[in-house]
Amino acid sequence: MSIITDVIESTKAIIQGMGVTLSYIPKRKWTVEYPDEPVTVQPRYRGQHLLHVDELGREKCVACYLCAAACPSECIYIVAADDPRPPTERIGVDERYASVYNIDYGRCIFCGYCVEACPKDAITHGYNFELSVYSRADLLKTKDDLLITKQLQSKNYRVALSHEDVDSEYKEV
Ligand code: SF4
Ligand code: SF4
Repeated sequence: MSIITDVIESTKAIIQGMGVTLSYIPKRKWTVEYPDEPVTVQPRYRGQHLLHVDELGREKCVACYLCAAACPSECIYIVAADDPRPPTERIGVDERYASVYNIDYGRCIFCGYCVEACPKDAITHGYNFELSVYSRADLLKTKDDLLITKQLQSKNYRVALSHEDVDSEYKEV
């Protein structure tokens, strides 16, 4: 008797499960044939950071260390230096700039605290999510990797327009 009950219960469970599976078949699919098709990322997506420059190409970072202090993962490493040349010839907008600016993506949790802490809008999140490497050491990105003028735009993603914000409980973007 219990075997018959087990069979009935199992059959009911399978039918119930298949019902859920089948109900998804007519729905719109979000599977993307990456990297043959570009992935659409939302405007608020936090990818690899960008270090910004002003209209003259000077680095906006003044090496104040506020981002490093705000970072809960302690993955930002900065070395400050002075550049006493005239303003138009400087590396940065200020005399003080970051001669070294590293982020260890083996530790970064993409929380965005560094971006919020920056008083100069010198650092933001970009959209690059293609950070897979074979060696953990390669997850350490230097200023040359992070400067907006030196990052190459990947063809493997695009940023959604606001009306394309889909499947999300956060509709304000
Ligand atoms: S996103 Fe968060 S964890 Fe990553 S560097 Fe910025 S503050 Fe640190
Ligand atoms: S990125 Fe911003 S917060 Fe960080 S050191 Fe540079 S100016 Fe300061």
